[in-house]
Amino acid sequence: MSKPEVSIVIPLYNEEAVFAELIKRLNNLIDSFHKKIEVILVDDGSSDSTPQLMRELALKNERFQSVILSRNFGHQIALSAGLKQTNATEAVFIIDADLQDPPEMLEQFYQLYEEGYDVVYAIRKNRKEGFFKKLAYATFYRIMVKISYVQIPLDTGDFSLISARMAKLLNEMPEESRYLRGMRSWLGFRQIGVEYDREERKSGESKYSLKKLFQLAFNGIFNFSEFPIKLITNLGLLTILSSIGYLIYVIAKKLIYGNVPEGFTGLLFVLVLFGGIQMLSLGLIGEYVLRIFFQVKQRPLFVIKEKIKNKEIED
Ligand code: UDP
Ligand code: MG
Repeated sequence: MSKPEVSIVIPLYNEEAVFAELIKRLNNLIDSFHKKIEVILVDDGSSDSTPQLMRELALKNERFQSVILSRNFGHQIALSAGLKQTNATEAVFIIDADLQDPPEMLEQFYQLYEEGYDVVYAIRKNRKEGFFKKLAYATFYRIMVKISYVQIPLDTGDFSLISARMAKLLNEMPEESRYLRGMRSWLGFRQIGVEYDREERKSGESKYSLKKLFQLAFNGIFNFSEFPIKLITNLGLLTILSSIGYLIYVIAKKLIYGNVPEGFTGLLFVLVLFGGIQMLSLGLIGEYVLRIFFQVKQRPLFVIKEKIKNKEIED
């Protein structure tokens, strides 16, 4: 059987509500597209009927591969698991299951790929999401651009088309806490952004809890920036400098005015302030230690429970 030219990788976590519409849209797209396409559906430990729906589909239609993980590993790991399964000779298209990213953009992305780009990523012009979520995203991405040591483009997510060689390189990167959009930027080559309006989720609720969003943001910051650790050093330097300044001031005051009684409100304030700064600093260092700790364990990124490919159950 000939290898597919394009793979579509989709992570799913409790997506039974959109499943039928997702598959319909994909089938329409694949029917009209001039390349051989395989779809790799990755179930990220859903507790609804998503894995059953995937199984049924993959057993009767060889277009679809079903990869079921042993538990919920999180979006970035589910995507990594999907990327590992790709056999595409040309490019890999990464989209969410909830149809916020229109699959039909593959046409446009593929054209740019043919022009020689290794990464075609989508830039969100508009988000149809709540005010606070939008504000939080906008702030985070802008901070990230300022502090990160690779240029991660503004307002982009994982929605992208990457070349097969890019996918291979991503698969070879062993890092445990994965922030794929950062890793993608780090790899370099020719990358280009395409603007789009991000749709509303077609059905169901967001599967990204606040906790998961913060984890993602932390992975972005601690894996692609030295800013937090540099901040501690700078804060320490600043503290030493200001205490020397204060010492000089006190001595001068004493020499000019003689003995002036000093209140201890100031003292107490300084004590509490630096207690806080020290604890924060330890916490920041802890974040790096934690990442080293998890990385040195060398655990596999994910565990696959069942795989269906070409209508057959593997493993
Ligand atoms: N997802 C996943 N594992 C998770 C959370 C989410 O595989 O632990 C999938 C989800 O099914 C969807 C994609 O990741 O296909 C993006 O999630 P969602 O749309 O809920 O995030 P949002 O768009 O609200 O940021
Ligand atoms: Mg979504």
